[in-house]
Amino acid sequence: MQDQATDPADLRGDCERCFGLCCVALPFAASADFAIDKQAGKPCPNLGDDHRCGIHAKLRTEGFNGCTVYDCFGAGQKVSQITFGGRDRRTGSREDARRMVEVFPVVRQLHELLWYLTEALTLPAARPVHADLRRMLTKTEELTLRSPEELAALDVGAHRQEVNVLLLRTSDLARAGIGGRKKNRRGADLMGARLKGADLRGATLRGAYLIAADLTGADLRGADLIGADLRDADLTDVDLTGAFFLTQPQLNAARGSAGTRLPGSVTRPVHWTAQL
Ligand code: SF4
Repeated sequence: MQDQATDPADLRGDCERCFGLCCVALPFAASADFAIDKQAGKPCPNLGDDHRCGIHAKLRTEGFNGCTVYDCFGAGQKVSQITFGGRDRRTGSREDARRMVEVFPVVRQLHELLWYLTEALTLPAARPVHADLRRMLTKTEELTLRSPEELAALDVGAHRQEVNVLLLRTSDLARAGIGGRKKNRRGADLMGARLKGADLRGATLRGAYLIAADLTGADLRGADLIGADLRDADLTDVDLTGAFFLTQPQLNAARGSAGTRLPGSVTRPVHWTAQL
């Protein structure tokens, strides 16, 4: 891909190079997604001494759907191998272990922004802002390489705002080339909505709540899906060709089919077609 400054492989979780940080740092509450409660910083009881999940092959049947949806955007390996130089969370100092847990969610946010910026640079229509996107990509990458202390003190929300201004501009440019009346559903409450066969070409669905919405057969070509909550949304036979700012965790949280057409930035979740 042209104009790509960051290797997409670095923006997906690589558990082989991570000390199981997501299974330690993040909290979860007993629900349809997690079988148990767990506090932030406390290792999940299913996490083995080898930093691997002991129930990886049966997460869904054991009530840990949330774990199959999650992706750290490569933050786990960055924090483990670069921020902390490969020092094991359990055998290093207590201070390192505490900082790792603190820093991981910050780097995860930065890596998510890197993912959006990298995708934005692949959109030809966004060429007028490519130089700005490249500068922001470099700045964000530099932030991820700061020391644990600097990362812990970083105002990541402020940086996110800066990036968002550029992503909004990118979205406008990318959707401008799509014909017809483009719907604005930014932040809309569409939970459980019946959108079967809906024409949402070039729509903005930024931050829309589409939880359990029926989108079967809908046309979302060229739509902006940044931050849309797609948990349990039915994407059976939906056309998402050219849709952008759709992340793998968003897609993993939805339902879909072999007939769902996807943009090249994401892959079809295994659980859409596998018998689990
Ligand atoms: S169930 Fe497995 S993947 Fe989920 S948090 Fe626990 S160890 Fe990690």
